[in-house]
Amino acid sequence: MIQITDHLGQIRARVTQALIGAGRHDQVKLVAVSKQQSAADIRELFNAGVSDFGESYAAEALAKQAELAGLAITWHFIGRIQANKSRSIANSFSWVHSVDRVKIAQRLNDQRPFDADPLNTLVQVNLAGESQKGGITEDAVAELAHCIDELPRLRYRGLMTIPPAGLQDADVYALFTRLRGLNETLNQTGLSGDTLSMGMSRDFEIAIAAGSNCVRIGTALFGARPKPNP
Ligand SMILES: *Cc1c(COP(=O)(O)O)cnc(C)c1O
Repeated sequence: MIQITDHLGQIRARVTQALIGAGRHDQVKLVAVSKQQSAADIRELFNAGVSDFGESYAAEALAKQAELAGLAITWHFIGRIQANKSRSIANSFSWVHSVDRVKIAQRLNDQRPFDADPLNTLVQVNLAGESQKGGITEDAVAELAHCIDELPRLRYRGLMTIPPAGLQDADVYALFTRLRGLNETLNQTGLSGDTLSMGMSRDFEIAIAAGSNCVRIGTALFGARPKPNP
C-alpha cells in the first residue's frame, strides 16, 4: 500500500529535479493542501517533516486546527475569503494567499490579534480573467499590493495565481512567467514581495521552472480528496 510519506518522498524528489532543471540554487516552500483531508493524515505528514499546511474553508480548518493544537504547524489560508470569515482567518492563520480586494485586506488588518505577528499576505491575481475564479485583475494589483504594504498588521509577501484548467504546458508556463514579471515590476515600485505562490499537483514542475518558490500541493500528496466541496 502506498503511504502518504511515500508520496512526500516522490514530491520532494520532483521538486529537487525541477530546481536542478531550472538551474536554481534556492528553495521551494511546500504547502501541503489539506482541505477535505483528515487531521490524522495531516499529523502523519507533519511527523514526516512537513510544517506548512493550506486550507480553503475556514470552518473546516478551525476544527482541524483545534484537533492538532499541539503541533507547530504554519497554517496558510488559500481559499476564497468571504467577509464574514475574515475574523477567523485573521485569528488562526500565519499566511493568506488569496486576498483580492481592499475591503478584505482592511478587515484582516483590523481583526489581526495584536499579540500575533503580522499576517503574511499574498495577492491572488486572476491572470486569465476567469469570471468564476477569485483573484484581482492584473491592472488593479499594484493598488491592492501597496494598500497591503501600508497596513501595519499585514505583511505584504507577494503574489499567487491559479491557471485555468485545460491549458497546454507552454501556456501554463507563460502564465506563471507573467506572474513572476508582475512581481518584479511591483518590487521596482518600492514593494518587497519575496513569495511567488504558484504550482499545484498538476503543474508544480512548470511553476518551479518559471520561478515559483511556494507550491501548493494536495492530491499528489494525500491522494484524491475524499469528499466533494462543502
Ligand atoms: C485545492 C487547491 C490546491 C491543491 O490542488 P491539488 O490539485 O490537489 O494539488 C492548491 N491551491 C489552491 C488555491 C487550491 O484550492
